[in-house]
Amino acid sequence: MTSNLTEAGAAGDLVITGGTVYTPDGPRIVDVHVLDGVITSLEEKRRSPVGANVVDARGMYVLPGAIDVHVHSRDPGFPEKEDFGTLTSAAAAGGVTTVIDMPNTVPGVDAGGVLEAKAALARSKARVDFGLWGLVRSSTTVEQLEGLAQAGAIGFKAYLGYAFSLSRKQVLYTPDTEDPDLEAPPDYGTLLRLAPVVAGLGLPLVIHAEDPGILAAFRRPLESYADVLASRPAEAEAVAISAGAAIADSFGTRLHIAHLSSALGLMAAEAAIRDGSRVSLETCPQYLLLTDQDFNRLGTRMKMFPPVRTAADRDALVDALARGAIKVVATDHAPHTDEEKGRPLDQAPAGSPGVQTLYLSCLELAKRLGDVWKAPRWVSEGPAALIGLHESKGQISPGFDADLVIVDPRRGTTFRPAIMRSRQRHGALEGMRSSFSIAEVYVRGRLVTHAGRKVGRPVGRMVPADR
Ligand SMILES: [Zn+2]
Repeated sequence: MTSNLTEAGAAGDLVITGGTVYTPDGPRIVDVHVLDGVITSLEEKRRSPVGANVVDARGMYVLPGAIDVHVHSRDPGFPEKEDFGTLTSAAAAGGVTTVIDMPNTVPGVDAGGVLEAKAALARSKARVDFGLWGLVRSSTTVEQLEGLAQAGAIGFKAYLGYAFSLSRKQVLYTPDTEDPDLEAPPDYGTLLRLAPVVAGLGLPLVIHAEDPGILAAFRRPLESYADVLASRPAEAEAVAISAGAAIADSFGTRLHIAHLSSALGLMAAEAAIRDGSRVSLETCPQYLLLTDQDFNRLGTRMKMFPPVRTAADRDALVDALARGAIKVVATDHAPHTDEEKGRPLDQAPAGSPGVQTLYLSCLELAKRLGDVWKAPRWVSEGPAALIGLHESKGQISPGFDADLVIVDPRRGTTFRPAIMRSRQRHGALEGMRSSFSIAEVYVRGRLVTHAGRKVGRPVGRMVPADR
């Protein structure tokens, strides 16, 4: 493809011409006209304003940028694992034009002032747009939730079973809460106390849904992948989802289930939804594409919580996605260092990077399901609705942000470490192949990725605050 760039990264007139565009009316060959970062029209007849930057996208797909609602930037806190610059560089390379960062950075994002400081840091480095989740601790007050909402939090995240270190101001995975430095993890009591406040603020409440009591009862040394599965049974996910939904129901709170991993959890969620619960579901490419059998090949690269489970779990999740019961695919992008992931199974931290491969892996899955145009629904439209951005992002329509991804359907991509931009280049999807590649990526009309290389300065803005 040819790109007539006068000034890389500028947001003047832009016309993307001749591509097959994913529009609300289905795929159409139209020109996408952009002015000052906003889509102005979709036109069938070629008409390029004088001086416009015209991009020839013939033979290409033009898709709305992905919104990954579940990433861990590690910034501030763990620069050796990742920071906002490397995270959003990886996002930009993969067609993710908005990332929503989880609040377990350091200090934990448990108050408005902390969120504002994190936003300032992110603005200085972000290559794509970003939003921030607020943290629910067992001690979180109504005033703290209100402060977070005022500072622009997308919603709130409660890590059931994860304690909080008072001295390090950090969320920790540890069931040992006898330590006086550790504040007890948020539990169902915390959810019941805060659910009406969250409902009043009109924001979603996200839970890490694994029942802490079940995990404590089944805890064991992790010597094999069978131990991983036995220590985190699917019942833990189902119980946490049912309990969370029962609590949220009483107040009309919107409950969002992060990284759904099991057929049993799905059944619990669908039962709640049938009964009228406002429950939304998110799963991740790793749960849709891998099974426990892949551990032999991937080792600790596949260690994550909740775990990748059986082929039957994977098939149930793929089916739910195909029929629209799951509306969001996010990544739980969670990088660690090579040294950390090189430890024995029991000691290696849980988590894998994934933001860069979100779109390409979903396009591949959608293609296998017989409808490639499902992918933008999972990674763009569904997420935009979840986080209240459905009037500005997630669609290619006049008035929407020009967050655009040009995809080449004739050139495939193998997920090799060499092409990864995250600080951690090895992930659970390593070695997989997609039949597609990302040619160009625009954030509000500004080119951020061209031919696999990053372009321009950090242009990311915070959503919804900076609009
Ligand atoms: Zn996570």
